[in-house]
Amino acid sequence: MIKWLEEKQQDINYITIPEWQEEGIANLFTLRHSGNSEGVFASLNMALHVGDNAEDVINNRKKVLDICDLNFANLVCCEQVHSDSICIVDSAGRGKGATCFKEAIKGTDALITSIPNLPLATFYADCFPIYFYDKVHRVIAIAHSGWKGTIKDIGVKTVAKMISHFNCSVNDIQVFIGPGIQNCCFEINKGLAKEVLYKFPHFKGILLAREKGFLWDLPNTNRQALLKIGIKAENIIMCPLCTSCHTDKFFSYRKENGNTGRMAAIISLRY
Ligand SMILES: [Zn+2]
Repeated sequence: MIKWLEEKQQDINYITIPEWQEEGIANLFTLRHSGNSEGVFASLNMALHVGDNAEDVINNRKKVLDICDLNFANLVCCEQVHSDSICIVDSAGRGKGATCFKEAIKGTDALITSIPNLPLATFYADCFPIYFYDKVHRVIAIAHSGWKGTIKDIGVKTVAKMISHFNCSVNDIQVFIGPGIQNCCFEINKGLAKEVLYKFPHFKGILLAREKGFLWDLPNTNRQALLKIGIKAENIIMCPLCTSCHTDKFFSYRKENGNTGRMAAIISLRY
């Protein structure tokens, strides 16, 4: 059984899948402590677009990549616009957005690569990171899936692109749905709930009625969408931690009224 756990190197805590690491797949989801940023960004803010001091963010990124023995200069970032646009990253993408947000890959929310030592990064405060790893073809991907990305099927579309471009198979793809805002906290209005039911009519237990609206289980929705296209249940790993419940550990856009930092989801082939 594949499992996630929390690890610590130097003073940095992060969530990772050790089994992937053993197979040469560096992977982590950062938490919010032991960085250089101050104020609402304290202290391990990993995103350049939120108004934090760029130098602090770059130092945070360097520190995290350093403890994972990854090359910061190769870090690939994308703009993240809650779209279903997916980019296949080749060596020309090396370093895009590592030090400057304007240089990140535009209009994109998912990154795929088969090239070693090309760390792919996306940034989070409540939305869900979905990590993909095909161990046979040695292809990795990361998709930013908030509620908009979930409605647009970004996870399913990332798998489709791994298959069409790299000849991957749903039988070989392992998935990790990381921390995010869970159904304890993600309340939506009736209008959006109607849209969810229309989009996912046969999904089980994804909406829970409340007095005014509904609680929407985003990770479970993504999981069922991936099962539907043939990803094996035993190959989908879920992290149940809620970013909104645990602001001691995570940045939460909702809980902190939009005024906060971002965690990073990073994945890289080592060979
Ligand atoms: Zn919660």
